[in-house]
Amino acid sequence: MRLDAVVFGGGVAGLWLLDRLARQGCHAVLLEAGELGSGQTVASQGIIHGGLKYTLQGLLTPAAKSIRGMPGVWRDALLGRGMPNLTRTRVRSECCYLWQTDSLTSRAGMIGARVGLQIKPETLSADDRPDALRQVPGTVARLAEQVICPRSFLADLAGQYQDRLLKIDVANGLRFRLQSPGEITAVELTDLQSGRELVLTPRQVVFTAGAGNAALRKMAKLDDAVMQRRPLQMVLVRGELPALNGHCVDGAKTRVTITCDVDARGRMVWQIGGQLAEDGVAMTPRALTQRAAQELQSVLPGVSFDQTEWSTYKTDRAEGATSQGSRPETAQVLCAGNVTTGWPTKLALAPVLANEIASRITAEASSAPFQSAAWADWPRPAVALLPWEDPHRQWWPQPKSTMEATPQRRAA
Ligand SMILES: Cc1cc2nc3c(=O)[nH]c(=O)nc-3n(C[C@H](O)[C@H](O)[C@H](O)COP(=O)(O)OP(=O)(O)OC[C@H]3O[C@@H](n4cnc5c(N)ncnc54)[C@H](O)[C@@H]3O)c2cc1C
Repeated sequence: MRLDAVVFGGGVAGLWLLDRLARQGCHAVLLEAGELGSGQTVASQGIIHGGLKYTLQGLLTPAAKSIRGMPGVWRDALLGRGMPNLTRTRVRSECCYLWQTDSLTSRAGMIGARVGLQIKPETLSADDRPDALRQVPGTVARLAEQVICPRSFLADLAGQYQDRLLKIDVANGLRFRLQSPGEITAVELTDLQSGRELVLTPRQVVFTAGAGNAALRKMAKLDDAVMQRRPLQMVLVRGELPALNGHCVDGAKTRVTITCDVDARGRMVWQIGGQLAEDGVAMTPRALTQRAAQELQSVLPGVSFDQTEWSTYKTDRAEGATSQGSRPETAQVLCAGNVTTGWPTKLALAPVLANEIASRITAEASSAPFQSAAWADWPRPAVALLPWEDPHRQWWPQPKSTMEATPQRRAA
């Protein structure tokens, strides 16, 4: 089957790109090894950053410059005014809050956080604060950064491109025919259940498989040391909690980033990242939740964690390698032969990555409309579950430090 492009990996990067390619008339399919978005996208907090996090030292950094247009691009897509059409993607919140502890470094950060951004924080009066932030001693600001449910985003695009998504078995059902390193002439697939074989002959091959890019590059005889992983251990809390999406900023650091959702049984779930999740990588899950409980008490006075349940999950951010191992400033793209490898670096930057890759791929495979009959009964990938919906996840009761603290008023 002659194609313009075969895309590997159905997280935010691959699905956004597939939409772009389909719209520009390319005959393109996406191959997924596991469940769509497993790895990072479904585990992410879903914040469509506008760069504020990257201006906390008071400078318009390259990272802030590259991301500052993204909230507008996503907003248009979510409203059905732009591409892709994301009208079935659930918006968890129209804004994030930003608040400080009362330390001096924290105050400096909030002042710096305004330089050159399209979305600037708007300081709130005491009456306008959300319930969870009523007793915070420092400034509270509102930031028009939307928060989406990443799973609904994955399901939205999967629904639109069902006929172009194929599930593959990387270990036993995938082979590359190579002309030379990075020059793939054919992608050979075997469906181990039915024994069926499919040979795809793409003009271009794209790896947007997150952490899976390294192994794919190795198969294509390309350098696989061009990727880095930065691990996180995220904290989950569920129970009777107020809604909250936002960042507690201390100097140039984000102490905690909290996003929330309601689980399938109607319980509020908080997903907690930021510095806490970076520092928590080496801790045991119980030690981390203990630490998280202390941290939340300090940054959210007045919020009660009575009767809550806690858990953690580990995941790696997979990105193009940088010399210091720090976060790349923007999306990363590498080209060799007919293979392009991409990492968006942030969910919010998927449009930047897709534009860059799609601009190198033209619709030439066929002038006939795209046909999916050749793989009509091929297995299709499912959408990955949100971390708190995993039926095997262990939850434990509220850590001691929150139970022993002086009783506090529950935010209304
Ligand atoms: C905990 C956490 C929170 C985050 N929060 C935010 C946030 O709030 N806002 C933001 O902008 N960014 C956030 N990010 C970053 C963002 O999630 C990632 O940059 C983005 O999701 C990466 O998308 P991706 O498509 O490149 O990779 P992934 O989402 O990891 O998707 C890769 C896909 O490729 C598949 N795959 C793997 N190997 C193969 C193979 N060999 N063949 C075929 N398919 C394969 C996987 O199964 C998966 O479906 C967060 C990241 C983490 C880890």
